[in-house]
Amino acid sequence: MKKHTYQPESLMMSYGYEPGLSEGSLKCPIFQTSTFVFNTAEEGKAYFELAYGLREKEAEEQQGLIYSRLNNPDLEILENRLCLWDQAEDCAVFESGMSAISTCLFECLSSGDLLLYSNPLYGGTSHFISEVLPKYGIHTLGFSPHQSPEEVQDLVSNHEAADRLALIYIETPANPTNHLIDIAACAEMAQSFSTADKKVLLAVDNTYMGPLWQHPLQHGADLVLYSATKYIGGHSDVIAGACLGSAALIQRIKTLRTFLGNMAGPWTGWLLMRSLETLKVRMDQQATNAKKVAEYLTDHPKIENIFYLGNLGPQDGAQYDIYQRQCLSAGAMLSFTLKGGEQEAFQFLNELRLVKLAVSLGSTESLAQHPASMTHAGVPRADRETLGITDNLVRLSVGVEHFGDLIHDLQQALSKVQISEKKVAANVLL
Ligand SMILES: *Cc1c(COP(=O)(O)O)cnc(C)c1O
Repeated sequence: MKKHTYQPESLMMSYGYEPGLSEGSLKCPIFQTSTFVFNTAEEGKAYFELAYGLREKEAEEQQGLIYSRLNNPDLEILENRLCLWDQAEDCAVFESGMSAISTCLFECLSSGDLLLYSNPLYGGTSHFISEVLPKYGIHTLGFSPHQSPEEVQDLVSNHEAADRLALIYIETPANPTNHLIDIAACAEMAQSFSTADKKVLLAVDNTYMGPLWQHPLQHGADLVLYSATKYIGGHSDVIAGACLGSAALIQRIKTLRTFLGNMAGPWTGWLLMRSLETLKVRMDQQATNAKKVAEYLTDHPKIENIFYLGNLGPQDGAQYDIYQRQCLSAGAMLSFTLKGGEQEAFQFLNELRLVKLAVSLGSTESLAQHPASMTHAGVPRADRETLGITDNLVRLSVGVEHFGDLIHDLQQALSKVQISEKKVAANVLL
């Protein structure tokens, strides 16, 4: 019989775990240990040779367990399971999304190199790029989702360090506006700036789509990054991150992780394995709910504009084209502008009852927040306006509640919003 290939969701309960090695325990235990006992000194020596890259692995040889900063069963099994969703060769798990991102940036960039990145980016990433990287002599250059691939190519070519382009870093869909960036076009650009002795890499923060709805590696990216705090963890109870890609690249990133010491601990590994068992059912439900919520909001008289991938159509040109090629779902993140300004947005947020007023996203409970004064407060006002992060914008992460209850909550909160007449008139004129 032909070998059957299981879908990732069927493997999340068991893949990579051998009960016989843990007293028959059905579930992978929490290996709450800092260090591991070697059977012999020779074995310890062999493990270190591999861990420190002193020699190549032999055909059937496995890296043995040494010390929980280097490896731990809860992390390794989790990493193997995460690989299944993105069909990646290897994965490194971190104590936060920011740890995964900063370690990846440090490993891929050296002094004098140029980093090209998309805007808007997650606030923490944006701060790291503009405030930390320049201290190490790294040049940075941002582009916007409104620029065409040709314009971005020119932007790089005209930069003094164009020949030192080492990494393209993008986030798509962009937070909070859901603007899309073409991963395949960025991969082509990376290729065009690569030389015989230096490959320009492409890294994609895929947090917004989670491991289910977009697979950047299949569109030519070299690395995919996640804040595992979001969909992967999915219960707003753990902070973690992940980076996936080829075995060779992840080996480099894991080596830097060993020396920065920012790997996730066994508890985090265990919690995330538990979360992965329900990843697909949670995300499916969240996307179904988001569609219903978006349908409700789309024609609401107090709402000016809604940014939801499911509303894209042929009239949206390139954005629709990218959506069709790149995304497997419209996801469960949406944002919308209320008629009015900050005051109306705040009134709405303060009236929500079931939906919680909090940052973060991708978890079982629905969360709403105000990007201009919260997640994107650090972005200068002029840049916020160009990116569409206006004072009347609200971001909503849709959870697994019954959609009827979510719509009820949005409806009652919207009914309490009083739009000042002046603002409505101004909006009509605009
Ligand atoms: C939350 C988030 C991060 C940072 O992750 P942490 O786990 O909070 O460190 C990075 N990128 C995106 C898109 C995020 O939403």
